[in-house]
Amino acid sequence: MEKYGKLVIESISEMPSRKKLIVGNWKMNLTIHEASVYVHHLAQKVQVHRDVEVVLAPTMLALQPVSLQIERRQFKLAAQNLYWRDHGAYTGEVSASQLRGLVDYAIVGHSERRHIFHEHHKEIRSKVQAALRNNIKPILCIGETAHERASGETKDVLHDQLLGGLANVTSDEMSEVVVAYEPVWALSNGANFHDHKMPTPDDVKRAASAIRGQIKHLYGEKASEAVRVLYGGSTNASNASSFLAVDGIDGLLVGGASLNQHEFISIVESAHEVDDK
Ligand code: PEP
Repeated sequence: MEKYGKLVIESISEMPSRKKLIVGNWKMNLTIHEASVYVHHLAQKVQVHRDVEVVLAPTMLALQPVSLQIERRQFKLAAQNLYWRDHGAYTGEVSASQLRGLVDYAIVGHSERRHIFHEHHKEIRSKVQAALRNNIKPILCIGETAHERASGETKDVLHDQLLGGLANVTSDEMSEVVVAYEPVWALSNGANFHDHKMPTPDDVKRAASAIRGQIKHLYGEKASEAVRVLYGGSTNASNASSFLAVDGIDGLLVGGASLNQHEFISIVESAHEVDDK
């Protein structure tokens, strides 16, 4: 009986359990006061589900007040950015060691950071490292531009950005990393006003499979099955379920729609309702 019990426990512990993750990236929107009012409304309506983690990424200034307002069972916090050195003369920067304890996650390598602020592999990899050494889970964003997609380079770009961001990450640390597939041409930020399109669930499935394949190559099968892969790009209440149902996708990184409480609440519910894959 004991043996049987042990067998069951072992097989359960070996099953990759990937809790769904919905991350709301508010970008450079909402004042501290507005953020606080918004969180107050969300807190009244967002249901706590054991199978869904809900993460809010307000502007850096609002992290501290929002942290005092939230119940950690309901919401976790993410920084939208961090600096890779822990302290020193770096005017205007905020380090992972300063964020330690305040946030559970940090978004790293977002396409707006890559394209507007010219962050490249080396800096992104240093930020991933800084997050990990400070007990913060990095959400590494990767994704191709419209031009790269048109040239058939999607897989290569994902490969390069993954390798670039994960160099120096050990297999143990890999269990703390989340990867977000965000095709730049699908984001609602207006950068691709003329090219804006939505990927099909099949496009997203192919990208998720390329990402897991690369992680398998780097860290082995267990890591590739355990890593959470998110999709991000113009998701909203109407299309969230179709992306959440994609094989290999464990959640969403939500930009614009995370600023609308009805949209965001509905996206969280979709994550809870989507069938386990
Ligand atoms: C983003 O910029 O990370 C994002 C997903 O934005 P949106 O949902 O507005 O396209």
